[in-house]
Amino acid sequence: MVKKYSLPDLPYKYEALEPYISKEIMTLHHDKHHLAYVNGANSALDKLDGGRKNNWQGVDLKAVERDLSFNLAGHVLHSIFWPNMKQGGGGKPGGKLADMINEDFGSFDAFKGQLSAAAKQVEGSGWGMLVYDPMSDQLLTLQAEKHNLLSSQTSIPLLVCDVWEHAFYLQYKNDKAAYVDAFWNVINWENVDQQLSKAKM
Ligand code: MN
Repeated sequence: MVKKYSLPDLPYKYEALEPYISKEIMTLHHDKHHLAYVNGANSALDKLDGGRKNNWQGVDLKAVERDLSFNLAGHVLHSIFWPNMKQGGGGKPGGKLADMINEDFGSFDAFKGQLSAAAKQVEGSGWGMLVYDPMSDQLLTLQAEKHNLLSSQTSIPLLVCDVWEHAFYLQYKNDKAAYVDAFWNVINWENVDQQLSKAKM
């Protein structure tokens, strides 16, 4: 019995993040792009299941593993991304997250500058990410190229900013920096704080 992935509902309406992220972007992004990663990951699982039953005859396992990594990472990051945002978000974090940001980055502004720069400077399609690194018990920023490249393998994403063109081009055209700056107005800090608590358990 192969366990399958499924597309989570958006935790708000498609237009909830306007004017910062348009209804049109959110609709296509969730219903088409995220769904494609879910379907791609499930297709890879089916191929692995088929390969096991057929002694890997006619299955390019290396290609399937590559598909699984790409599509599963896409599914994971979008599933974190949607609840990272909310209508009326923005401002600054509180709770343990605020304390840890101050400890590990020096200040909220230093953290904001670092994550913004990481997101803006992604080469090609990818993500800017705030992660919890269990190896050192600290917060770090990382970039992801595509969804799965540049991973540290252990770090747990807490707050992710999708900088694929499908995330902003319909509204911001080529101005990725303006989109990243606008992203700070929709961040759901309570959700990011909850992600940190889960990551540290
Ligand atoms: Mn995306």
